[in-house]
Amino acid sequence: MRVSLLFLISSALFGQSLPDQVLRIIQANQAWTLEQQRTICEIPAPPFKEKVRGIEYAKRLKALGLVDIRTDSEGNIISRWPGSTSPKPVTVFSAHLDTVFPEGVDVKVKTAGTRLTGPGIGDDCRGLASVLTVAKAFQEAKVKVEGTILFVATVGEEGQGDLRGVRHLFTKEMKGQIDNFISVDGTAYGVTARGVGSNRYKVTYFGRGGHSYGAFGMPNPAHAMGRAIARISDIQVPKQPKTTFNIGTVEGGTSVNSIPISVSMEVDLRSESASELATLDERFRAALQSALEAEKARWPDSTAALELKVETMGLRPAAEPADSTPIIQKTLAAAKQLGIPVFATRSGSTDSNIPMSLGIQAVTIGGGGQATGAHSADEFYEETPDSYKGPQMAALLLFGLHPPK
Ligand SMILES: [Zn+2]
Repeated sequence: MRVSLLFLISSALFGQSLPDQVLRIIQANQAWTLEQQRTICEIPAPPFKEKVRGIEYAKRLKALGLVDIRTDSEGNIISRWPGSTSPKPVTVFSAHLDTVFPEGVDVKVKTAGTRLTGPGIGDDCRGLASVLTVAKAFQEAKVKVEGTILFVATVGEEGQGDLRGVRHLFTKEMKGQIDNFISVDGTAYGVTARGVGSNRYKVTYFGRGGHSYGAFGMPNPAHAMGRAIARISDIQVPKQPKTTFNIGTVEGGTSVNSIPISVSMEVDLRSESASELATLDERFRAALQSALEAEKARWPDSTAALELKVETMGLRPAAEPADSTPIIQKTLAAAKQLGIPVFATRSGSTDSNIPMSLGIQAVTIGGGGQATGAHSADEFYEETPDSYKGPQMAALLLFGLHPPK
């Protein structure tokens, strides 16, 4: 009985290449992938508090045959596919554990037909599930490849985290050891080939403050910030490479009849180009300084101080590797083989920013399916008939970088 069953299985696989077997297994596990996505998502992973989800993720990797599983000092989960049998090249195949949602947000996933609703269900529970699905297929097909494939879950990808997990991985934990980086982030089949850089600051103007009527005649931090906002709003930026600025929050003061002691704003500067971002950053700082001076000059008789403080909230490096980079070419080839229409590569702000900015080839791809409302509490994921093509694309890319043995 046992012999004949084995015979049946082997004849079913006869003629199938290892990548073809893996593709078939991934497709057969479409429902399993969705179940992973749902159950991972019901474990909260607020910024800086990804630990519980990380522990569970490590358990699942272990059950799928990954070895040398460890949690690094930043909280990244790192594991090695045992069937990757030579030291080089080293590929990190990853998704991110963290969400943008604070503690206490209800993470129960609601399922209605093909729709799953819950915070982080697409970004990045889909990516986490895709990585596990590839591991499952590798395990079932007993995949052996050249080089070393590390299955990784990173922490701190989202805004507040400022890429702390991937930054740690590339600058400390595995500095100089990684050759390729793949991140499965979100849904659908986008190919993110360039990193949008961003500089984020909290800007505060401080003054002495006083009664709006009685102390009138001194520099006013709110007025200084108004001047700064006007100057920043007028900065000219190129359309290509896309470069943007935004004052996202404004706050301060105590009452309508008080000159404020302090007012502050949070500012986000972005560009696809590192040099354009640097230029924008210079203009932004010049605007802050000239606003300070203009407000002081407005009240030449006042001795009241007016000061400016700029605090860095986040710095994500920009990078513009060409589409001819091998990892991008291999990603596009994988998409083509699966009949996924990818009309153009795009730029984005993802874990790949760090390796790209270090000159290490990297790509961020979607995990299949469709989602709407990322970073909102009513984010939903729509399971599509071909959602399995997300993990399939990732698997083919891995085979492109690591030929089967
Ligand atoms: Zn994400």
